[in-house]
Amino acid sequence: MSQISRRQFLQGGTLFAGTLALTACGGGANEDATSTQVADEAAAGEGATADEAVATTDYTTVEEGKLTCISNLFFPPFESMNESTGEPEGFDIDVSKSLAEHMGLEVNWLPSQDFDTLVPTIKNGGKADVAIAGMTITDKRKEEVDMSDPYVDSNQSIVIKSGTDETAETLDDAEKVIAVQSGTTGQEWAQENLPNATIKPLSTIIEAMSGVQTGLYNAVVCDLPVSKYQIKTSYTDLEIIEEIPTGEQYGIAVSKDNPGLLEAVNSALAAMESDGSMDAIEAEWFGSAL
Ligand code: GLN
Repeated sequence: MSQISRRQFLQGGTLFAGTLALTACGGGANEDATSTQVADEAAAGEGATADEAVATTDYTTVEEGKLTCISNLFFPPFESMNESTGEPEGFDIDVSKSLAEHMGLEVNWLPSQDFDTLVPTIKNGGKADVAIAGMTITDKRKEEVDMSDPYVDSNQSIVIKSGTDETAETLDDAEKVIAVQSGTTGQEWAQENLPNATIKPLSTIIEAMSGVQTGLYNAVVCDLPVSKYQIKTSYTDLEIIEEIPTGEQYGIAVSKDNPGLLEAVNSALAAMESDGSMDAIEAEWFGSAL
């Protein structure tokens, strides 16, 4: 999407608010979904064709005026629950707030759910508009849902309890239990690269790390930014024995039935990159822009 059409898109959020209200009241075909006609680039002129206008600007949200988000909220620093406020917080939460703001929507976070249910929930539709979950863009996921343009680079890591002297070689043994978060790229990496080990899928990385701490599991395989952060802030008796350059990139999952929303999300992400919002969020959670 060009700079010009992005501007039109942002303007359209205000200009066409009236259209949105009329559509929402007059429709009746689907009371839960809001048909959001953000802008009509064809009407706005400047060379956009009617087809492009539809592809880039029309989308629905499950709740009117809101960007409803889902995640597994036990993946710090990307997402976690702030115990004192009871609100979700983290890198992805700030991304969701800025995203919604750029789209002229209010952000709405649903309660945490297991990571391996996020793609099916988005695919089935009706509950949430986007999954923002430190989710790696993979071909397999792209068969089920659309993934936005990448917004974070990531890799894998192997974490053990300091002093246990495990290596990738000693861990590749049926006696060794490798904890992973169910349905993640870490699980996939462990299954492919430690084929003799016993892989234990769990619902959260917190459970996996606590289990390594208490000796229940021999190692965790998980995303490197998360293991680094967790070891620095909470699990100081764990260590990373291998950084694995898988070259992953995180994207936001959107239903394939809502291509206009994907366009709007990508457009907002591009705006966040160019106006410094993304750098500010990176600085907040990682000390500097990534
Ligand atoms: N990035 C990994 C994946 O997409 C892990 C994500 C997570 O656990 N939240 O599979």
